[in-house]
Amino acid sequence: MQAAKHMCYDRILPQDLVRVQRTRMVGGRQRAISLIGKQWANGSTLRIRFLGGTQDQQDMVRSIAPKWTDYANLTFEFTDDPRAEIRVTFDENDGAWSYVGTDNAQIPLHAATLNLGWLDQGVILHEFGHMAGLSHEHQNPDGGIVWNEQQVIEDLSGPPNFWDEATIRHNVLNKYSADQVHGTEFDPHSVMLYAFPDSWTTNMGATSENSDLSEQDKAFVASAVMYPGRGGAESDITELDIRRGTEAAISEAGEEDLYSFKVKEDGMHIVETTGSTDVVMVLFGPDSKTKKIAENDDGGRGQNSRIAARLRPGTYYAAIRHYNPHRTGEYRIMVTAY
Ligand SMILES: [Zn+2]
Repeated sequence: MQAAKHMCYDRILPQDLVRVQRTRMVGGRQRAISLIGKQWANGSTLRIRFLGGTQDQQDMVRSIAPKWTDYANLTFEFTDDPRAEIRVTFDENDGAWSYVGTDNAQIPLHAATLNLGWLDQGVILHEFGHMAGLSHEHQNPDGGIVWNEQQVIEDLSGPPNFWDEATIRHNVLNKYSADQVHGTEFDPHSVMLYAFPDSWTTNMGATSENSDLSEQDKAFVASAVMYPGRGGAESDITELDIRRGTEAAISEAGEEDLYSFKVKEDGMHIVETTGSTDVVMVLFGPDSKTKKIAENDDGGRGQNSRIAARLRPGTYYAAIRHYNPHRTGEYRIMVTAY
């Protein structure tokens, strides 16, 4: 048996490896998992550019990857635009991997953000799942998998992966902490699950290699915590006037409120919330809903978020969510120019 199949490497930026562990997450019934704060703004159009690959390879990706967008309120636009958020390579010597969600926007434009070292429907959906902000289902903290660590390390140290132990621990053995992820229920049919042999765990059998979106994958990406509204109205964007606060509320668990504001003159700007609701803010721009500038949880008063940044002229977008995807509450948002 080829114990070690091709395994995907979800690239996590270094700052996430030292992220402070917190424990405010409460249980819910979401399935599949995503790292908090890595979703794109709901309704985003993500431009995807191929760096190489044959026509057949590119066509296969074009036809399969957008399956996600039948459920997630995202649009995948295949383009030659050099500013494309996502750059796909087909290097067969580099395995399969992708950066996760908005991390993609931090990668220099000349570099790939997603590699497909082999091609089938399962790997395309899996990597584009990472691109959309999803993590590995086998690392679900509620997955209950007890690893046979020695066997896993032995198998993945050899061909075709040749991973060192740190990589194996990162990609397979370490579970994300419960407060870093959305979602709690283990889904054995998720396309975000690795296939692994029964020798790798001491408490469950082999998992199957899933080649299509599971019902739970579909429901999760369409849910309020990810990208709701596909097929419905465009996500509403509320325009903020500089210096005039706006009252608002997260009225539904997992809701994201999206705001835009126009910067006319280069200068320091502060975007902040007030009130008693623990919100998280992600700021995008200029003139882009996908280019993340900053995110903040508790930089403001109490548990409010606050982002101070020097902004050049253009339109900016601020996405506001409750820190806890199961809770609701009122807040006030305001932009000030200095
Ligand atoms: Zn993966």
